[in-house]
Amino acid sequence: MFQLIIFGPPGVGKGTQAASVAEKLNLAHISTGEILRKAVSEETELGIKAKEIMDKGNLVPDEIMNGIVRETLEKVNGNGFILDGYPRTVNQAVALAEIFEKLKFYDIKVITLTADDNEITERLLKRGRSDDTRDTILNRLKVYYNSTSPVKEYYEKQGINMDVNGVGDIKEINESILKSVN
Ligand code: AMP
Repeated sequence: MFQLIIFGPPGVGKGTQAASVAEKLNLAHISTGEILRKAVSEETELGIKAKEIMDKGNLVPDEIMNGIVRETLEKVNGNGFILDGYPRTVNQAVALAEIFEKLKFYDIKVITLTADDNEITERLLKRGRSDDTRDTILNRLKVYYNSTSPVKEYYEKQGINMDVNGVGDIKEINESILKSVN
């Protein structure tokens, strides 16, 4: 069972790359953003709570996210999975380490996609998702640098992070990721 975490700022292309790598390596693609957007569209209790937070570009509380990921990973089978959009805080990364420990997942790799702020702001504005307004984007970047970017150092200290340049041709980026994980 193979465990890949795809990490990086909002708009760097995590979702696109995770979907493609998942298909090529026959892995489950677990996107916490997608799970939340589904809950929002189904107007579940979680969705109603999450919508307001997501519209502002803030983070859904760790306890909620850790619970969602724990339940999802307990059910996963097959070749393994790619986590996209989680962990987003060091607290989540610590919770994930506990989940991995409990489920005996030891083959963990982290890919960090990199791009500068101007590039990702432009991309997010072009994407046009409902949480892609300029104010929300600016807040998402702020939240990324304040709360999420320390997760990269957390994995670097463990020696399991690999940076991949997220700017350029989608196919070439995809090949760089596949090379890094193999
Ligand atoms: P994404 O599709 O990954 O950009 O996620 C969209 C939004 O969902 C984020 O801006 C957050 O509000 C929320 N979200 C997704 N994943 C997480 C997470 N791991 N922790 C907290 N909030 C999250």
